[in-house]
Amino acid sequence: MTSKTSIRSEIAIVCVSVFFLVAFNAAFWHQFVSALAPLDTHERLFIAAMAIVGFGLLALFFSLFTPRYLLKPGITVLLLLSAAAAYFINEYGIVIDADMIRNVTNTNPGETYDLLTGKLILYIVGLGVLPALLLWALPISYRPFWQDVWFKTKAAAVLVALIVLVLLPFTGTAMSFFRENRVLMRIFTPLNYVSAIISYSRGTLEAKARAPRPYGQDAHKAEVWAERKRKTLTVLVIGETARAKNFSLNGYARETNPLLSKMPGLIYYTQAHSCGTATAQSVPCMFSGQGRAGYRQAAGQEGLLHILQRAGFSVLWRENQGGCAGVCKGIATEAVGGATRKLFELAESPDENLLAGLQDRIDAMPGDGVIVLHMMGSHGPAYYKRYPAAFERFRPACKESQFSRCQDAEIVNSYDNTIVYTDYVLAQLIALLAERDRQGLPTAMMYFSDHGESLGEGNVYLHGLPYAFAPDVQKHVPFLMWLSPKLQADLRVNASCLERRRHEPVSHDNFFHSVLGLLDVKTSAYEPGLDLFAACRSAPAPVDD
Ligand SMILES: [Zn+2]
Repeated sequence: MTSKTSIRSEIAIVCVSVFFLVAFNAAFWHQFVSALAPLDTHERLFIAAMAIVGFGLLALFFSLFTPRYLLKPGITVLLLLSAAAAYFINEYGIVIDADMIRNVTNTNPGETYDLLTGKLILYIVGLGVLPALLLWALPISYRPFWQDVWFKTKAAAVLVALIVLVLLPFTGTAMSFFRENRVLMRIFTPLNYVSAIISYSRGTLEAKARAPRPYGQDAHKAEVWAERKRKTLTVLVIGETARAKNFSLNGYARETNPLLSKMPGLIYYTQAHSCGTATAQSVPCMFSGQGRAGYRQAAGQEGLLHILQRAGFSVLWRENQGGCAGVCKGIATEAVGGATRKLFELAESPDENLLAGLQDRIDAMPGDGVIVLHMMGSHGPAYYKRYPAAFERFRPACKESQFSRCQDAEIVNSYDNTIVYTDYVLAQLIALLAERDRQGLPTAMMYFSDHGESLGEGNVYLHGLPYAFAPDVQKHVPFLMWLSPKLQADLRVNASCLERRRHEPVSHDNFFHSVLGLLDVKTSAYEPGLDLFAACRSAPAPVDD
């Protein structure tokens, strides 16, 4: 069986394990050692023990590729995926868990294109393609299948014994250390994404197996609507990757809100936090009514838009991004650009396209309307693609997706330009709604960003870190509302009461219940304690047209 020049499959597995341990885990070892510092003899021995444990885990994992026809193809796929994973971990400081896999599957082709950089291709060729070619060129000898299974079983027993033996003197250190630094598990490649894909697939299959559960079936318009004859319109704007820290409305030193900061009647909440650190968590959470604690269990259940529709509102979702993460299932939707882009097509759809044709949509609504605008906002890393050239207020702006080619200050400049543009789009929208109010259509607007962003603080970029470890900049988000004078009168909202309470802590948990509260929709799904309008109703007043 064994020719002179071939190597045994177990030797190949040992080599592959060492290669993965070193080549794809630079960030793991770097963070591991710096979290452990200062290094004394005990810490150095712990590092050596962890190197053996890491090797043992990888060798156990690769032993699963036992049938001969599985070894080379399987490891090739892992080499390519690991090269890409290592790039994103090293370049952007991301970690990989089930939520990250969900973000990847929800990303549209245009966003994926932004992530393709020369350096990523270098990673894939250098750490993926070349080692794979070497592997395929290597003559490997295999035992007959059952003989091999028996050998691998014995080898696995030895590896497990080795791991236990090596860890034994460090049980206390390892337990407390990894409890404090759980994030390290999510950058240990490839076990991070293998376990993430398994837990994501399990969750998705479970959600698919369940029929969509009805929710808030008793929804109806309550007393403020009793004597109202004229229509109303509410626009809910879901922002993208806008962080509160860079809003001048929130005290940022740069003038990133030149228009909104002068807008009469605008209410800005200074202490608003998101539900998640990525679109795929925050958007379902906002519309679920279950808040941060329970939104995962609400997967496959109807949400805010279904309840509003049931209560008699015309609902429309206008999309300028990858999709609505399931919250607009069964609701009228319209893509204004982002969602229709094709793979590798560079055309960007600026967010003002969300306002194009909006007048017609409003006129076409038969009764009271709710329109959701899903912005592209400040989606990174290609911030410079998110705003038209006229909005490049801060210079020099980073014009690269690969952050290592830009100074942090340039990255912040291009990010701030996206906020200036968002400021413009929202101000245009309010102007349009104010005009409709003057024409006799009471209007309201609420804007909530889905999550924040890291701009290089602590060498972290983008977003999506697990909530418990994520810095405040990924969670503290802008939330603002504007209510037309006629709407305040019709729906009995005391705006000065809202204004007084704008420094109180609020979150995405308030969104669902506050929309129902503003529109006075009663249902068992509504919790008055989370409704920002509950304490700010004004006394009934005669209708003044
Ligand atoms: Zn997002």
